[in-house]
Amino acid sequence: MNIHEYQAKRLFGRYGLPVPVGDVATSPEEARAIAARLGGRVVVKAQVLTGGRGKAGGVKLAKDPQEAADRAAEILGMDIKGFTVRQVLIDPAVAIAKELYLSIIQDRAARRSVIIASAEGGMDIEEVAVTQPDAVVKVAIDPLLGLQPFQCNQVAFGLGLDPALHRSFAAILNGLYQAYVALDATLVEINPLVILQDGSLMALDGKVNLDDSALYRQPELAAMRDPSDETAAEREAREAGLSYVDLDGSIGCLVNGAGLAMASMDVLKLCGGEPANFLDIGGGAQADKVEKAMRIILADGRVKSVLINIFGGITRGDEVAKGILAAIGNLQTDVPFVVRIVGTNAAEAREILKSANLPTAPTLYEAARLAVAAAAGQ
Ligand code: GDP
Ligand code: MN
Repeated sequence: MNIHEYQAKRLFGRYGLPVPVGDVATSPEEARAIAARLGGRVVVKAQVLTGGRGKAGGVKLAKDPQEAADRAAEILGMDIKGFTVRQVLIDPAVAIAKELYLSIIQDRAARRSVIIASAEGGMDIEEVAVTQPDAVVKVAIDPLLGLQPFQCNQVAFGLGLDPALHRSFAAILNGLYQAYVALDATLVEINPLVILQDGSLMALDGKVNLDDSALYRQPELAAMRDPSDETAAEREAREAGLSYVDLDGSIGCLVNGAGLAMASMDVLKLCGGEPANFLDIGGGAQADKVEKAMRIILADGRVKSVLINIFGGITRGDEVAKGILAAIGNLQTDVPFVVRIVGTNAAEAREILKSANLPTAPTLYEAARLAVAAAAGQ
């Protein structure tokens, strides 16, 4: 689960990190009042659960309360990467000398949490990692020993920080690690961590990703959930007990089992296609669940064909085939489907599908090939 920047920075503040003392507004009038209370120049920032707000025009400076209200009126209601801005954060503006990047993230391959830091902050760290890999400092933390003082120095030297800043930098890194552990976070990020013109450090932006599996013991954080964190399709899927992830391709995937869904996506790519989604209907696969899954897949206008890949175990293939027919019958769609069913009662299943003129394929490779061809209109 993601939380907003203002929530992340308030949490960081509790761990001793220097953060701006702004507040959130849902209207230009509120923005004006907050700016008047703060005094001086302010920055008006869109609160949406996506990055790159600055580039999208969602971060603007204002010299007085009137301008803050004007900028808030422009930003509120704006669409940033599919998210509508409902709240803006009004922070006191600061004079920046340099922007750094600092985060702690889980590295599954290293089985450690890893500090990632760069003196090239402010912009996309992914881009820096590709174009200037030497500008990215990585230090792994042993979970039993925790963050060690020498590691703070390692990062500070790696960033080329002025030695006068090492002590306050270490305090920030320690606070960030404490927050990361205490909040059950999978990511804590400050981009930019700025060196102000007066020489001090400040966390100007904040991002926290929380481990969904730990939310049961983080009631305060769980209550921060913003329903706009998920798309309508993702919400519908979660409520129906389906695992659904929206992707960028043109071939819908309906699969029973997460591993099988991953394999199906790989084979689609091998055949030159791109999956439009990951969808695991799980075990059982009753007709109503299949239909729900199909509705979610077909609601995505980019879907040009659908690959249905079913492995009948305890679930009988013929039952699933009947479910698929019922669902397609109810949906009235022109989008072509290809079905591959193996396992229990697969032969019966193929008979049912064939008699309804639904294309089936004996192997996953063949099914993927047909789905890719259908999506290309061949
Ligand atoms: P993001 O684009 O969504 O990551 O939003 P950020 O909070 O990181 O803001 C984007 C950029 O706006 C920062 O990298 C800064 O360059 C700039 N910015 C944010 N706050 C201030 C401020 O108080 N003063 C100045 N001068 N620039 C700011
Ligand atoms: Mn940022």
